[in-house]
Amino acid sequence: MLPPQLSGIAYGGDYSPEQWPVEVQEADIALMLEAGVTLVTVGIHTWALMEPAEGTYDFDWLDEIIDRLHAAGIQVDLATPSVAPPAWFSYAYPSALPVTRSGQRLGYGARQSICPSSPDYRRAAAALVERLGARYAGHPAVVLWHVYNEYGAPQSECYCDTSRAAFHTWLRARYGTLGALNQAWGTSFWGQQYGAWEHIDVPREGPTAVNPAQRLDFARFTNDELLACYRNERDILHRLDPGTPVTTNFAGTINGKATDLWTWAPELDVVANDNYLTAERADNHIELAMSADLARGVAGGGPWLLMEHSTGAVNWQPRNIAKLPGQMRRNSLAHVAHGSDSVLFFQWRASLFGAEKFHSAMLPHAGTDSAIWREVVRLGTDLRGLAEVAGSLVRTRVAVIWSWPSWWALELDWRPSADLSYRRQLDLYYEALWREHVTVDFVAPGADLSQYSLVVAAHTYLLSAEEAGNLAEFAASGGHLLVSYFSGIADEHDALHPGGYPGALREVLGIGVEEFHPLRAGETIMLTGGHTGQVWSEPVRSAGAEPYWTYLDGPDAGHPAVTRHAYGDGVAWYVSTELTVAGLRELLADVLAGAGITRPGFPDTVELVRRHAPECSYLFIINHGEEAVTVPVDGVDLLDGTRREKEIKVAGGATAVVREPA
Ligand SMILES: [Zn+2]
Repeated sequence: MLPPQLSGIAYGGDYSPEQWPVEVQEADIALMLEAGVTLVTVGIHTWALMEPAEGTYDFDWLDEIIDRLHAAGIQVDLATPSVAPPAWFSYAYPSALPVTRSGQRLGYGARQSICPSSPDYRRAAAALVERLGARYAGHPAVVLWHVYNEYGAPQSECYCDTSRAAFHTWLRARYGTLGALNQAWGTSFWGQQYGAWEHIDVPREGPTAVNPAQRLDFARFTNDELLACYRNERDILHRLDPGTPVTTNFAGTINGKATDLWTWAPELDVVANDNYLTAERADNHIELAMSADLARGVAGGGPWLLMEHSTGAVNWQPRNIAKLPGQMRRNSLAHVAHGSDSVLFFQWRASLFGAEKFHSAMLPHAGTDSAIWREVVRLGTDLRGLAEVAGSLVRTRVAVIWSWPSWWALELDWRPSADLSYRRQLDLYYEALWREHVTVDFVAPGADLSQYSLVVAAHTYLLSAEEAGNLAEFAASGGHLLVSYFSGIADEHDALHPGGYPGALREVLGIGVEEFHPLRAGETIMLTGGHTGQVWSEPVRSAGAEPYWTYLDGPDAGHPAVTRHAYGDGVAWYVSTELTVAGLRELLADVLAGAGITRPGFPDTVELVRRHAPECSYLFIINHGEEAVTVPVDGVDLLDGTRREKEIKVAGGATAVVREPA
C-alpha cells in the first residue's frame, strides 16, 4: 500500500537539515517549493541528536523541521536512525560491534557498525523507536515510516560469539534435530558430524573451503537476522501508528546480495528501492531498468517507490563519472516507466563535510546557478504532468527467475569455473531481452507462472525439487521455458540432484550431460550459424530434445550447444554455453516468436515500456540514442501536452509519455 496521502508522482529526496544553520534550512523550504518537491526523508542519521546520551531524548529540533516542512505543504518520510548508532552506544556496548569472517572486530566511525544479532542493539533501537513513534504518530506531515537505511549494505554478516549463539538457535528451529542437520549439511564428508549444537561454528575463514551447506545456511541466517531487526522496529510503528505505512529502502534490488527480497516482500507495506548506476558502464540505463523491474517484482507487480538515486556522480566508485546533460531526466522517467510512483534522490542539498561530500545532490555545491538545479526544476514540472500515471501497472508475459539462494550458492568456493557469475549471466539475458524491447517481470523460482508465456531461468543453480517441478509444470501446461547452463544442479542444501546434469531439469529439457567442460580464460568456441560461446561447454546428449545450434569446435565439437524440447503442451530450450548478447538476441528472436511475443522493430537504444490504468495506458518512449526515432501512437504526450494521432518523433536523448485509450 502506498501512503494514501501521496498524490501523483512523489518528488524529493533525503534531507539532512541537521548539517546546516537555521537560515539555510529556511532557504531550503523556498527552494524545495521552486523545484516542486513534495516528499522528503528526514532523520536517517540522527540517532545521536535524538538520544544524545542513553535514555536522554531530544526531539525539539525535529519538531521544528517537520513543522516547517508541514507549513510549506511538503510531506515527510520519517526515518528511524538505527543505521548509525551514536558513539556512546558503541562505547558502552562494544560487543555490539560486528566481527568479520577473519575474526576482526570492526570499529566505530563509519555507519552500520552493528551486529544484527546483538540484543543490546535491538533493545536500544526499539527504545528509541518507541519514543519516535509515539511522538509523531498521526502527525499530518508524516505519511511514511522509513526503517534503517539499506539493510545489508555493506555490513551484513557478523561472526561474533553473540551471532554464533543466535546461529545455533536458528539452526535448531530449521532442523529440529542434529541428525537432520548432519544429513542436510552432508557432514559425513570430511568427517564433520556434529554431536552437540554448541560445537557448530559460524563459517569463519578456514584453512580451505568451508562446508558449502554451512555457508549457505549462514547466508540465510544473516538475511533472517537483518529481517528480524526490521520487524523489531516495524512492529512498534504499526502498533503506535497503524494508519501510516512502513518501509525500508533496499540497497538496490539487483546489488543487494545479502538480502533475499522474496522473504522481505510480505513484511513491507510498500517496497522502496535505491538505485545507483555503474557510472563507467556506457549503457547503464539497462542496469537501471533491471533494478526497477526487480523492485516491481518484489512489490508483487504493484507500484513501488524509488527512494534514492543521484542527480549526477556518486562518491564511492573507482571513477565517479558525472551524468551527461539530460541523463538524470531519462533515468528518473525510466524508473517511473518501470512502475515507480516516486522520484527521490540522495540527497536534497550537497554536504560540505563528511564521507559523502563529493556525492551529487538536487541542490549542488554550486547552488542554483547550475545545470543540475535547472534540470531538477524542469523534472519537477515534468512529474506534475505525469501525476495521473501514479497507480497504473506494468504488465508483461515474460518473466525471469531471480534467486538469491542460487546467487549465494553458485559463488561459494570450488565451483567448476571461477568465471561462473550469477549477476553476469542475469545481466546478459536481461540485456538481450531489453534490446529486443521486451519488458520482463522478475519472479521467484516457486512463483505462480501461469500469467507468463515465456520464463527464463539463467544460472538458476539451486532449485528444490518443488521449484524444479514448478518450472516443468509451466512448460507442460503450454509455457515456453529458456534455461541456461549450470541451472537445476543443486537442491536447497547445495547437495547435487542425483543422476547427472542438469539435475532437476533433465526431464523437462530432454537432455543429459555427463561432465562439465569449462573453457580456459578468454577462450571462445564456434557454434553453427556463426555464433560463438565462451566460459563453458558441455557434451550435451539428447534425450528427446532437438539440436538447434551445434558446437563446431572445442571440447564438445559435434554435440548440440542449444536444444529445443517439445514438452507437454509447451517447449523447453537449453543453452549450454555463454552466448554473446548478439547471439542470444538471435536465439531470442525464435524463442519469442514461438511464445507468440512480437518484437517491435525499433533501434535497440530506444526503451518502450507501458503502464496500464483502467481507462487508458501510458507508453513511455525513452530514447537513449543520439538519432531521433519515430513511433506510431495515437494519444497525448503528457510531457508537452500535444496530441499525436499517428506517430511521435522522439529526438535523441528525449523522452515522451503518451496517454493512449485502453
Ligand atoms: Zn555478531
